[in-house]
Amino acid sequence: MVVGDEVHASLIKALGMLGFGRQRVLRVPTDGQGRMRADAFPALAGPAIVCLRAGNVNTGAFDPATAIIAQARQAGAWVHVDGAFGLWAAAPARAHLMAGYADADSWATDAHKWA
Ligand SMILES: *Cc1c(COP(=O)(O)O)cnc(C)c1O
Repeated sequence: MVVGDEVHASLIKALGMLGFGRQRVLRVPTDGQGRMRADAFPALAGPAIVCLRAGNVNTGAFDPATAIIAQARQAGAWVHVDGAFGLWAAAPARAHLMAGYADADSWATDAHKWA
């Protein structure tokens, strides 16, 4: 499992509950806004899930989906989007923030952040 270093704690908890274990996580360094750094993405060998985050709950920043999905695809990885906070940006006025995210394999969002 490949995540940004500022991964939401619920994702690590979910991995444990699903039986993947909390230790099988590669954390990619992030920039000053908490975005996964595409230039620090690791070389992957073997099955992998890459979890992008659409919307950092502290800064609002989006991982650079186009660059990271390209690297994940080269490794044959599944790409999941944690869009709990930011998937709603796909609404027309903010759609530019979602560039590249349509190329992921799965997405999750979370309506309670907006209630
Ligand atoms: C809130 C949040 C979650 C977890 O959602 P909960 O339903 O509150 O557990 C996961 N990822 C991100 C980016 C979040 O902002």
